[in-house]
Amino acid sequence: MTLESTTHQALYRRWRAQTFSEIVGQEAVVATLRNAVATGRVAHAILFTGPRGTGKTSLARIVAKALNCENLGPTADPCDRCGPCVAIREGRALDLVEIDAASNRGINDVRELRERLNYAPTDLRRKVYILDEAHQITRDAWNALLKSLEEPPEFVTFMFASTHPQDFPPAILSRLQRFDVRRLTVPEITGKLERILAADGRDADPEAIGLVAGLAAGGMRDAESILDQLLASTTGRIEAGAVRDLLGLAEADLVDGFVAALATGDAAAGIALLDRLEERGRDLRVFLDQVVDALRERLLAGLSGGAGPDPGVAAAARRLAAIDPTRLGAGGLRLQLELALFQPVPIAAATDQASRVAARPVGSTPAPARVPAGEPRPSAPSAPRPTTERAASAHEAEPPEPREPRPATRAGGPDHGAAADAVAASDPVATSGPATPVMPADGSDELERLRHGWPSIVATITDRNRAVKPLITACRPIGVDGNVVTLGFPEEQGFLKDVADRRKPLLESCIGDYLGREVGVRCIATNLDLLPPLPADQEAEHILAEAHRIFAEDRLDVPEVS
Ligand SMILES: [Zn+2]
Repeated sequence: MTLESTTHQALYRRWRAQTFSEIVGQEAVVATLRNAVATGRVAHAILFTGPRGTGKTSLARIVAKALNCENLGPTADPCDRCGPCVAIREGRALDLVEIDAASNRGINDVRELRERLNYAPTDLRRKVYILDEAHQITRDAWNALLKSLEEPPEFVTFMFASTHPQDFPPAILSRLQRFDVRRLTVPEITGKLERILAADGRDADPEAIGLVAGLAAGGMRDAESILDQLLASTTGRIEAGAVRDLLGLAEADLVDGFVAALATGDAAAGIALLDRLEERGRDLRVFLDQVVDALRERLLAGLSGGAGPDPGVAAAARRLAAIDPTRLGAGGLRLQLELALFQPVPIAAATDQASRVAARPVGSTPAPARVPAGEPRPSAPSAPRPTTERAASAHEAEPPEPREPRPATRAGGPDHGAAADAVAASDPVATSGPATPVMPADGSDELERLRHGWPSIVATITDRNRAVKPLITACRPIGVDGNVVTLGFPEEQGFLKDVADRRKPLLESCIGDYLGREVGVRCIATNLDLLPPLPADQEAEHILAEAHRIFAEDRLDVPEVS
């Protein structure tokens, strides 16, 4: 391994917890596991479940160490120094078998696993099988595993990790000791990011760290991946502007300015702001989410302040809630945002209200067309509803549902409802579930064309929007099926896929230009190592190394962001 590739080892790998003490959060899970290890009562089949990037497989490896450590600490922490601990940490223990069920889901792999199961361990005391993404195991394969789970050899421990335990067969689930790993809080994530920065001798604006922690939506791995990109793409102090650049977020003053223009009906000011945004290559969909978040905060602040929601803000929130961000072409998002800037005039009010009601089947009361600012409104319990349906940032510290995080939008909180679902329904391929490597047979000629032309497509896309560079560099075309081109993003950087989902129009237009026909783009997170390398690649790591190389160039030719 060259020095360069060593220095590019992903942050989340370098900073993976190696002992129970290093696990951030998850106190209840860790306490139970320590106790089980100390009393020699670790179950022979364990399930770690929880959102992606929260440390499930790290916990499984630490348990594997604790079961095999030669110098177990007084609190049942593995020493991380003895032979077995080091062999497990370095991934060379023969008796620790890690299986990515997303790629080894077939019955044959399980048969092979079962055949080897009964051989006594060779380099560890206990044989440990860790099956990641275990909900992807096929039914036949589960059936083959069931007997092994019922009567495993004395020296075997199974550990499963999964984001979707509801997909397990009940007969399996009932045989597993289950640990629910929760989303991390913003302070927990912030604390670890600050430790990483301190150890690297780097410095960051607290606002920048706050943005990263908030956007990661409870997943430490996403937060570490974003920080990794930031460290590689900037020199010196990490500013909030760099985070906004990477994720295509608009500056706070632009968001505030647009909210003010909406609330006062100052269309000229609002349109000027939209021009500035597009000049900076910001994505309007991301901007819409930010504006909706800001409106919601204003509405909630009005409620808790006792003054009641500002009628101008409430009416603006309703106008924005009716926007369909997926609409393309002449009536696209830009026009819809511009229209939202115009307060409805009395003559048009009736039709306007009718269309708003039609667009929003939820039982919301249409706002009075014009209410002078400051005039008290009769009680309006429905006022904050329109925006809570799209975003729920106020709840991000304690989301009750194990939904997949959507870092760029922070949607998916408890009030996630009609508006967001409508978006999801009109965009059925944008789901962020666990990924299966997809290599459709159809369109393989076109896939080859895309793979060969990928460098020029990347160049075209980044010419048109520089801010998209990290996205497009990290992904690669992995399938063409009819009019749908599938782009794969590295699993450990799922946040890039989420951001790419918001930028599909640009990707679709550039890829469509290259292929000479209209295409849709589907983005999935997947294990890129399993796919054949691009023609230009010599190594599986090439894609990420390339991203780092391009970031390094950015240092030379991109002016400091404010
Ligand atoms: Zn040890």
